[in-house]
Amino acid sequence: MPEQHDVRLKTLETQVACAADQNLLDAFLRANTWLPHGCSQGTCGSCKMQVLEGEIDHRASSEFILTPHERSEGLALACQATPRSDLLVEPVAEVADDGVVRHPLRDVLGTVSALEDIARDTRRLVIDLDEPLPFTAGQYVELLVPGTEIRRQYSMANAPADTASIELHVRRTEGGAATAGWIFARMHVGDRVEVRGPFGVFGIGRPQNEPAILVAGGTGLAPMKSIVAAALAEDLVPELWLYHGGRTEQDLYDVEFFRDLDFRHDHFHYRPVLSEQDWDGANGMVTDAVLEEFPTCKGFAGYLCGPPAMVEAGRKVFKRRRMAPRLIHQEEFTDASDLARR
Ligand code: FAD
Repeated sequence: MPEQHDVRLKTLETQVACAADQNLLDAFLRANTWLPHGCSQGTCGSCKMQVLEGEIDHRASSEFILTPHERSEGLALACQATPRSDLLVEPVAEVADDGVVRHPLRDVLGTVSALEDIARDTRRLVIDLDEPLPFTAGQYVELLVPGTEIRRQYSMANAPADTASIELHVRRTEGGAATAGWIFARMHVGDRVEVRGPFGVFGIGRPQNEPAILVAGGTGLAPMKSIVAAALAEDLVPELWLYHGGRTEQDLYDVEFFRDLDFRHDHFHYRPVLSEQDWDGANGMVTDAVLEEFPTCKGFAGYLCGPPAMVEAGRKVFKRRRMAPRLIHQEEFTDASDLARR
């Protein structure tokens, strides 16, 4: 059994035990002590911490996300750093009680119960869990690629009320370890899968006064499907728009599901958008469709999820339409190539 160290969080006066081979974020989330974080893979930098006392190992932290200067100032990435001694730490981002219900991080085993091609290079994967895994809409899990130590992040698409199984939407990446090498190659119904979660802060965690505009690219639709389900079931927002972008109709999925919701709920509006095919729906970049429909986004909240370039374009559109920066929320589907570039 690896050596254990005590890690104290100065702000909350909380202490957790952290094994020498366990990252600090994992230790705190497992103990249900909430810490700011984003991708859990070292690409976003949201989980930076000040190490006030003690020694850490930065492990795989990239020098782009955590510069040599920051290291010399005692900063660390909580999702990467492991303890070498007892520690006193403090997150860089404020840990405020925002009223959102959080769920402790856990490892759960599950069985693949459905595996379906739903769009170009896109699969819906349903995993029945051995134990319930409560989460908040917008959060994600990590799957362990069998026979490796590789973990990859996938957002839950099911309503958070369904805790017995998780629905994931996975896009194939050429040369990708988890997708091309596993989920699209050798995964079968009945396979056992190791799941870790929930992670992440993306989503509408509690009722808000601002109407919400959700913009998804590709499988960025996954967390949005869960958010829409929660928002409609729990009356979280006064009005809700969902934009989903793809190149052609082959890239869209769950279209009838969302059209039906749009038909049944006056305050939910579904907008599929195609960038490379003329059709009877909207055409162009999904973010430009928002620009066209909304003369102003002042007083709205925005949620962006998908490839980093789409998320960046969406931020620009929301700012151009005067959405308050604090009301812009995003989840970027970064992968190993982004990590290598940074
Ligand atoms: P990887 O092995 O990560 O490879 C990706 C690409 O990088 C490949 O082209 C590969 O050849 C290249 N590459 C690998 N290593 C290197 C290197 N060292 N240098 C240069 N290039 C390299 N995806 C979804 O489809 N659905 C989701 O719901 C989803 N949710 C996510 C949530 C979060 C918070 C994050 C961070 C990501 C999410 N993703 C999601 C992306 C997902 O986690 C994976 O990154 C994606 O599926 C690719 O994984 P992979 O193992 O197949 O590819």
